[in-house]
Amino acid sequence: MNINDFNFAGHKAIVRVDFNVPLDENGHVTDDTRIRGALPTLKKILSDGGALIMMSHMGKPKGKVNAKLSLGQIVKNVSDALGVPVKFAKDAGNAGEEAAALKGGEALLLENLRFHAEEEGKPVGVEKGTPEYDKAKAEMADRQKEFAKKLASYADVYVNDAFGTAHRKHASTAVIADYFDKDHKMLGFLMEKELHAINSVLKNAQHPFTAIIGGSKVSSKLGVIKNLLDKVDNLIIGGGMGYTFIKAQGGKIGMSLHEDDLMPEALNVIKAAKEKGVNLCLSVATVCAQEFSNDAPRKVFPITQIPDGWEGMDASEESLANWKKIILASKTILWNGPVGVFELENFAHGTGEIAKYVAQATKENGAFSLVGGGDSVAAINKFGLADQVSYVSTGGGAMLEAIEGKVLPGVAAIEK
Ligand code: AMP
Repeated sequence: MNINDFNFAGHKAIVRVDFNVPLDENGHVTDDTRIRGALPTLKKILSDGGALIMMSHMGKPKGKVNAKLSLGQIVKNVSDALGVPVKFAKDAGNAGEEAAALKGGEALLLENLRFHAEEEGKPVGVEKGTPEYDKAKAEMADRQKEFAKKLASYADVYVNDAFGTAHRKHASTAVIADYFDKDHKMLGFLMEKELHAINSVLKNAQHPFTAIIGGSKVSSKLGVIKNLLDKVDNLIIGGGMGYTFIKAQGGKIGMSLHEDDLMPEALNVIKAAKEKGVNLCLSVATVCAQEFSNDAPRKVFPITQIPDGWEGMDASEESLANWKKIILASKTILWNGPVGVFELENFAHGTGEIAKYVAQATKENGAFSLVGGGDSVAAINKFGLADQVSYVSTGGGAMLEAIEGKVLPGVAAIEK
């Protein structure tokens, strides 16, 4: 079912949202982006006259009640954002009465789903690889189904609008969908927007298509890089992960971040890029320091000749000039991961420049630009350019898995 075509009047909808918002030490919300992200879906349900039940996780309580991770702390924020008072059910697994009492136009928030181990469905207290583990896993799978069935019993419609957890097969993100027929389960607006943005780069990209992949580790993004090799014209690899590619080819990288065990894979990527005609663009020189600190003196070295005792910390002007040309000529841009240690002010320049080039290509070249995955979102926000790119994804892990070409369980459960 498509959410636009559904009239929620007379229905009770249970919506999986991602309200995993950051809190300060007093339990106050420090960034409500995720609450605001869910509003179009939540407001439609209420304005249609439907009864709204919201459920989410917060943090990693690992199956135990933890007051610091109680969603009770954000009830006021959700009420203010929605413009209606929000009721609160103190136990997501035992909210039948509160749900039954809910009328059209009213809203209820359930307590943190992950206070129940059944939400994630991971066996607790047993080691992986032991015979007990398999037994515990099977038992937990049954308990997870029961928990999902309970959540489903609160409502007659299920909406998944939590893109941030769409790559998880949890009770509330996927298993629950089995208890609703095709006409009574759907993706929310945020989820639709995210998937549309990803399809715009993966399936309907205009060329030249450039991917900028930075960040710390090759290992966490190898799947992404491999899948992109079949789609992009240019692949820029910067940041900490670039040094593994340089070392693999015999370059001297000093004490820069790298993963020795990933060097064969890095060589495979270089070879595959050549075969597929992808322009693989690594750094040519890098801003280095002798210690990982903001005040450390900086010096630029050619990327293959970093002396012992020095480590690459940021992109150099020379590398940036190469990347700028490519980015400004692109029609589709995907950016994931900073090209330097952008958290340290003195090493944030390169990442800030990339943010500028992506924004400029979007404005001047009409490029479609998708920025996503944890730190790149923090980076684009830091440089105040989030509203100057086409789309900023709200889901780090989910976006990376979608870009890897994996089917997201949260989406598959709605579609089956
Ligand atoms: P990721 O989560 O893999 O996207 O990595 C993001 C992290 O990579 C950020 O915390 C950056 O500080 C870090 N990073 C980027 N470039 C470097 C570098 N040259 N050396 C060490 N860390 C880096």
